[in-house]
Parts: sequence; C-alpha cells; structure tokens
Amino acid sequence: MTAIRQRKKGSTVPRPHPDHGTLPAPLVDRFGRVHTDLRVSLTDRCNLRCTYCMPAEGLDWLPRPDVLTDDEVVRLVRLATERFGITQVRLTGGEPLLRRGLPGLVARLAALDAAPELSMTTNGIGLARSAAALREAGLDRVNVSLDTLRADRYAEITRRDRIGDVLEGLRAARDAGLAPVKINAVPVRGVNDDEIVDLTAFALEHGYRMRFIESMPLDAQGAWDRDRMVTAAEILDLLRERYDLNPVERRNNAPAEEWRIGATDARVGVIASVTRPFCGACDRVRLTADGQLRTCLFATDESDLRALLRNGADDQALEAAWRTSLAGKGPGHAIGSAGFRRPERPMSAIGG
Ligand code: SAM
Ligand code: SF4
Repeated sequence: MTAIRQRKKGSTVPRPHPDHGTLPAPLVDRFGRVHTDLRVSLTDRCNLRCTYCMPAEGLDWLPRPDVLTDDEVVRLVRLATERFGITQVRLTGGEPLLRRGLPGLVARLAALDAAPELSMTTNGIGLARSAAALREAGLDRVNVSLDTLRADRYAEITRRDRIGDVLEGLRAARDAGLAPVKINAVPVRGVNDDEIVDLTAFALEHGYRMRFIESMPLDAQGAWDRDRMVTAAEILDLLRERYDLNPVERRNNAPAEEWRIGATDARVGVIASVTRPFCGACDRVRLTADGQLRTCLFATDESDLRALLRNGADDQALEAAWRTSLAGKGPGHAIGSAGFRRPERPMSAIGG
C-alpha cells in the first residue's frame, strides 16, 4: 500500500507522492485563499426544468463529443489531488445521475492514490436505483434538491411530476449510508417560502440535514429578481418562530452557516451567497462538463483544459494552466453593485 493510500480520505495532511516523492503544492491565489474543493460537472443535461434554473424547453445541451470522457475527468481529478492537495470533490451538473456509468467513474475517483472525499449534488431522480451502487463505489455524501413537500407544487417548480422519485431517492441514500444526506432548497417568495419550517421539520423527522440557499442570478432565462429572493435573515426569522437555533462554529471556508436545533445534534444550514457572501474564504474551483476551469460561479472567463488534454499536454502543462487560471481569480462576485455582470453560462451549465 502506498503512502498516499494510507491517508484518510479527504484528509488535509499532505503526503509525498509514492512515485516522485514530491508534496502537493497548494493552489493559492493572490488573496492568499487556499483551494481544496473541486466541483466537477459531469453533464449539463437535466431531466427537470426548475423555474429558477432553466426555461421549460431546456437549453442547447453540449454536443456529446465536447463532454469530458471518464478518462479525462479521472486524469484532471488525479492531478488536482496529487499536485494541488484538493481534498474534496463534488460531482454535480446539470443532473449528474444522467451520466452513463456513474458508479464506475466514482469507483475510479475513489481509488485514486490521494482519494478525495467524494460528494454529489443531485435532484434525486433515479437515486433510489443507484444509491447503494454509488455508496459501494466510494461516494461519501449526497445533497438532494427538494424545494417543496407538496406534489402539485413540486410539479409547478420543476415542471415535472416526480416528487415521489425524490422522496424514494432520499430514503435510499440514507439507507445506503451516504451520510449526512442533505436537502437543498431554494426558497422563492410567493412560491415555497411558506414551507421553510415544514421542510425543516420533515428533514428532522427523517434524519436529513436541511439547507436553504438564497437564489442567485444564475438562471438561464435571466429572470432572477432580487425581490423574490428570500434572504438568509428572513429564513432564520421564520425558523426561530418554531425552533431554538444555536450557531455551530463555522467549518473553515464552509459556505453554509449552520445552526443546531435546540439541544439536539440536528442542524439546519443557510447559504447566503447574495446577502452574506463568503468570497473572502472561498476555497472552490470548478470544472465544467466540457473541461473548462472556472475559478468562481460568477467568473466571466474560463481556461480550456479540454483543449490541452486533447492536444496531448503532459501533467506539467496542465498544472501550469491550472495555476495560471487560479492566479487570475477575482476577489468575489459583486451581485447588487453597478459593475455586476452575469456569467455567460447559467448555473446548470457551470455546475452548481
Ligand atoms: N441538478 C442537480 C440538483 O438540482 O441538485 C445539481 C445541479 S443544480 C444546478 C445544483 C444546486 O443549485 C441545486 O441545489 C439547485 O437548487 C441550485 N440552484 C439552481 N439554480 C439556482 C439559482 N438560480 N440560485 C440558487 N441556487 C440554484
Ligand atoms: Fe436541473 Fe438541478 Fe437546474 Fe433543477 S436545479 S433544472 S434539477 S440542474
């Protein structure tokens, strides 16, 4: 067994590489932020059409040859873990469960010498069928998106009548030992903001961890309206009417602020990307399904790693491109300011 395989999955303690003996050199940007979290989009396609994300007709999906192959994804993740000390990898999309052969890809990522902690963000459709295989392959955790408990409302928000599949998927994820199972909800004023307490109670009852996300101007239609965003402060006011909330000390760079409910271990989290941005502590870098490296959800430029990969670049050239891209990372998004520009790609094509 190699030195790196002995490392606890996702551990931040760097170990020398067994072949060349070098330590990973962290990805540090000009603001001193160390990047340890990589979000990998596996597809831009989706089987839902959430109204705050994309239009009813869907989007012009990437042509299949443009999407990174499993070999290409594994190579870039290997590079990120070995050379930069990336310890957390989240698989996302579009809908990552639509990726063919996903358990096989997960198994390859989990078998890397410097295996990262592996999580996934999914809408949960099809999770009931795949949760056990994904856990077996080495997936550690899962976040499932669910904005409402009402079937009719779910169909309105997602434009698909699939709430039963999501609820089954949640149960299967929990039973498979993907822990913790988190539920992501995006409250929108006048749509589902009256369910903030109900969703939390549901999560508590079933052993899931509830997280609310402020809606962001990243929908494909450009219809985001700040007045319809439910702020973290409003979410917390509603929760406090029902629960005694005790702040949990924030884990380094975690985007979610978390509260313990009463004297229990149960938690609820809020991701206040708009009203309380955490850009100053950002430790994330993103890879789109077509192999573009992005230093921020709101970045307006990308680095084309796929072109390098397909032109035969060696690991050193890929590392150099990655580091150059990071060096250009901006201080943070400027939602709400006059200079704010939406990125060209919507959230679903970047990887949320
Ligand atoms: N399809 C998967 C899902 O829905 O979980 C993964 C991709 S989705 C883009 C990732 C997360 O982004 C989901 O929790 C979704 O609710 C959230 N999301 C999508 N559009 C958003 C927006 N405009 N503002 C805030 N969150 C958004
Ligand atoms: Fe699909 Fe996720 Fe966007 Fe909903 S939020 S349309 S499930 S990518």
